[in-house]
Amino acid sequence: MIAAGESLFASLFPGNCRLCNAPLARIRRIPVCEVCQQAIHSLEGSVCSICGERLLGEPAPERRCLECIRFARPFARAVAYGSYEGELRALIHLLKYQRVRPAAAVLGRMLAESVAGLLEESTDGSAVVIPIPLHRAKQRQRGFNQTELIARAMVEHLYVPGLKLEVSVLRRCRMTESQTGLTRSQRRRNVRGAFTIQNPGTIAGRDILLVDDVFTTGTTVSECARLLRRAGAARVWVATVARVIKREAIFIQVREQPAMKSEPAELRAAAEA
Ligand SMILES: [Zn+2]
Ligand SMILES: [Zn+2]
Repeated sequence: MIAAGESLFASLFPGNCRLCNAPLARIRRIPVCEVCQQAIHSLEGSVCSICGERLLGEPAPERRCLECIRFARPFARAVAYGSYEGELRALIHLLKYQRVRPAAAVLGRMLAESVAGLLEESTDGSAVVIPIPLHRAKQRQRGFNQTELIARAMVEHLYVPGLKLEVSVLRRCRMTESQTGLTRSQRRRNVRGAFTIQNPGTIAGRDILLVDDVFTTGTTVSECARLLRRAGAARVWVATVARVIKREAIFIQVREQPAMKSEPAELRAAAEA
């Protein structure tokens, strides 16, 4: 039985770890070796209580980054499992670009870990889970929406009765250009009108858990959160598997806190760069 399983596995994922190329010693759920999987860990230390950006100093309940102090966010809180780099980034790419679907189960489990704390804020543990949709043409091209697969795996793993996946409310009606290199206002213009809400009755008065694979600048989830709130949602939380940690945001925090006696070497380096 095991031999049959192994040969089936070998035909599915022949040979080597798709992240580091080391030979795979035994059957694994995904074609990624133990070492690479162990290298993925959750964000640690102090983060902004609204957007999840990493901050300097000791963790404290309601600390905010400068951006969240300056601008009101349309979402109540955004959490992310890990930093968008290294093996976590590679694992997301394995699902998204190399179409290794079983990776969604692993990523969904990570997301479930980050979301468990959020759900405690909900009065009855219930929320509508909405994955950020792809444009129809993009989804047809890829064959699936990776965010939907991750959200589905997260819901299954959490096994909370009041948690329901809803994929028909939020629609992406226009393709958007890459956000890379755009200013804040250009990014907002870029996503304006890209999404619409169907059947708003489904979300009226409900708490929403908006799911995406990566939080980069937060422009897309902000636009969706704005629409959902306008359509009657009570609160919108955001959960992403990974988050881009901005070096410059950390740098600003360094300058904002001149009383700090010793900075970690990596931050000093970032400040001098
Ligand atoms: Zn590996
Ligand atoms: Zn923030």
